[in-house]
Amino acid sequence: MPIEVDVAICGGGLAGLTLARQLKLQLPQVSVAVLDKLQRPLPQAAFKVGEAVTEAAAYYLAETLQLRDYLARAHCYKLGFRFFFGDAQGPFHERPEFGLSKFPAVSSYTLDRGILENDLRQFNEEAGVVMLEGCAVEGVELSKDGGRHQVHYRRGKVGEDESVQARWVVDATGRRRLLQGHLGMSRSPGKNCSAVWFRLKGRVDVCDLVPREMSRWHDRVADDNRYYSVNHLMGRGYWVWIIPLSSGHTSVGIVALEDIHPFAGFNTRQQSMRWLERHEPALSAYIAGREVLDFRCMRRYSRSSRKVFSADRWACVGDAAVFADPFYAPAADLIALGNLFTAEMIRLDLDGKLTEATVRHYDQSVLSLNDMLTRNIQVAYPLMGNAVVMASKVIWDTAAGWSLLSPQIFNSVLLDPENSKRVRRAKGSYFFLTLRMQELFTQWGARSLGRASFEFVDFLQIPLLLDLRKRNLRGGKTVEELVEDHRES
Ligand SMILES: Cc1cc2nc3c(=O)[nH]c(=O)nc-3n(C[C@H](O)[C@H](O)[C@H](O)COP(=O)(O)OP(=O)(O)OC[C@H]3O[C@@H](n4cnc5c(N)ncnc54)[C@H](O)[C@@H]3O)c2cc1C
Repeated sequence: MPIEVDVAICGGGLAGLTLARQLKLQLPQVSVAVLDKLQRPLPQAAFKVGEAVTEAAAYYLAETLQLRDYLARAHCYKLGFRFFFGDAQGPFHERPEFGLSKFPAVSSYTLDRGILENDLRQFNEEAGVVMLEGCAVEGVELSKDGGRHQVHYRRGKVGEDESVQARWVVDATGRRRLLQGHLGMSRSPGKNCSAVWFRLKGRVDVCDLVPREMSRWHDRVADDNRYYSVNHLMGRGYWVWIIPLSSGHTSVGIVALEDIHPFAGFNTRQQSMRWLERHEPALSAYIAGREVLDFRCMRRYSRSSRKVFSADRWACVGDAAVFADPFYAPAADLIALGNLFTAEMIRLDLDGKLTEATVRHYDQSVLSLNDMLTRNIQVAYPLMGNAVVMASKVIWDTAAGWSLLSPQIFNSVLLDPENSKRVRRAKGSYFFLTLRMQELFTQWGARSLGRASFEFVDFLQIPLLLDLRKRNLRGGKTVEELVEDHRES
């Protein structure tokens, strides 16, 4: 007998599991099944990529999903993003540093994805979600007459074909992008940016790259806590991340524009170590001989779509919908936004109030945001080694993110398309301004000799950013307050 539920979520990764939790918290009467081909226990540390979250995604996890205590207990607080620019061949302490000097009031986290997904599966099960683990979805039949959709799956490698019938089908299968493939909606925008990553056993602390006696360098960050930042080593055409995991291990990744750093130069474990030796020798020497827990790569990772939501009761969330460039870790923001929209569409549908116009508004919001993020970030790869240009861009992009995207995740009043349009009108010419600013950074980067520099910038000492952070990174505002905030920013 097929299982019947209101919502079948195909794929139980970050997007699928968080959506299931949100539905159970906000619409407890809705029955939900999550199907995932993987079975618990999921491995710690050496599991999925995507370990840093922004303040907006942290708000979604901590407040909307009521995971604040859990995150504090099981994951690491993040000491913001931190960038080291400049000459990677010279002493590390001479590299211009852009980051925070102390933990900020609004929290964000670094996540061990294996720990998180094991725990979310358990929380969902306890909340009454039907967790179909070890079940690979083989196909989806979308109903054309308003009836239930059918999700066909196979349990284990040799199991029988089984099915789930559901009013809503959500594709959260990550890069498998089941519905996008099935419906021919997928697009691959963006430049040839590719990545490799691996987890190293134990702690990799950038503070160890600078001798202890350089106390001025160490002391400018409270308790020498740089380890808890999402650290980026920046160079022309690339960034290298170093992210602490609560399991005690460290995630390291190389992300590069292939036009400058051909993929063949870093696409295997051996090649990536050679690449680090050449481009980031201090890190390379420090991690030499460490136990490598895994090694993964992904070529030309950006993904977009022509349509991610439909009034015919299907939705795509997470990587199954879109994937922007990971430089500012916006993926969990897009997951949060996609989940907020999907849960609202399901609520409206059950109340008989879902309209094509609302679905179109949500669809366009996700697609245009994803394309803008990808474009804004990927034009910057050639500038990444230029400390002053890139730091200026990060300041601009942070201000824009805290003014535009973050308020949408912090304030559910913006789920209403009319409210959202009012706020959008208030931000008026932002779209054209940001295009011009990105052009300015590109031209500045092309003409700059890269000689200007700085020692250390704590970006929360910049009054504009401090003000935006205080004003915009909080929830529960009325639409009038949001309009006013947008006018002021
Ligand atoms: C280089 C790089 C760096 C990144 N850094 C960050 C970061 O710092 N912060 C951040 O937020 N994000 C980051 N991301 C993005 C992040 O990895 C993804 O956006 C996120 O993992 C997507 O979650 P998801 O649930 O959509 O997909 P996944 O986590 O991949 O989950 C999909 C699930 O679907 C299941 N599945 C697939 N096919 C089937 C099937 N046929 N049947 C059943 N189950 C199936 C899989 O087993 C899996 O569990 C990064 C990505 C890259 C490439």
